[in-house]
Amino acid sequence: MIDAISHPSLARLHPTASHGHPECEHRLHLILEAAGDVVEGRPATREQIESVHDHAYVSTVVELDGERWLDPDTIGSSTTWEAASLAAGCAIDAVARGGFALVRPPGHHAMPDHAMGFCIFGNVAIAARCAQQDLGLARVAIVDWDVHHGNGTEAMFRGDHSVLFVSLHQWPFYPGTGGPGTSDESTVNVPLEAGSGDAEYFTAFDELVAPAVRAFAPDALIVSAGFDAHVADPLGGMSVTEDGFRELGRRCARLAPRVAAVLEGGYNLDTLPALVTAAREGLSDA
Ligand code: ZN
Repeated sequence: MIDAISHPSLARLHPTASHGHPECEHRLHLILEAAGDVVEGRPATREQIESVHDHAYVSTVVELDGERWLDPDTIGSSTTWEAASLAAGCAIDAVARGGFALVRPPGHHAMPDHAMGFCIFGNVAIAARCAQQDLGLARVAIVDWDVHHGNGTEAMFRGDHSVLFVSLHQWPFYPGTGGPGTSDESTVNVPLEAGSGDAEYFTAFDELVAPAVRAFAPDALIVSAGFDAHVADPLGGMSVTEDGFRELGRRCARLAPRVAAVLEGGYNLDTLPALVTAAREGLSDA
């Protein structure tokens, strides 16, 4: 199996459960319990985070000294910087090792200058930039199978021909972007109808995702691995199964010489650990 990269503090820092928030510390506690041996990740440096985020926004997160809503869905507190920099650092380490970063808070809605949709820093975007700058991986593809459109990642790389961003997502749905007609040379948005399941995802993957990634010929592929398209997820409206996520992992693993994954959403605490394991198994089976 590919390595799992995480840190036990992520199941404690940036607490949100007392607000009944779906993106809570228990998610990671349960995932780590099921994951077995985990490689301990290090925090990203401020410089690495500022490869995609504005200095002033990063200062806002660093300086949080009490609970504050950063957007209508996203709470910050005095340990948010520690958690978010650790999440980004684990994503960087995951690309270096070809592993799976088990992290929270998630990242793909985070914009260059503000938090959004439970996300503080764009973990996958930061990892992609660091792969280019530090690992010499010039061309990076991102496949985002979270049920929500990865609008933050898209915003960071739109028009950048060294990064291909591909997103499969429920549409119309939060955050409202990624609809028909929004693809271009470096962005492939695949909006899917509510209720779509394994068959629809595999067809879209084979007809749209795989050809685009192969044509791009990436040095590395990073999966924005959300599990809120699962049939039992309380936020998403899709029907992907556990076997479906295993198969999506397998198909992604065949698309680049180096493949890594980073956890995004997934909010059913009963099913989430097994879904992560299934995707990790698939990603290990190139
Ligand atoms: Zn999501």
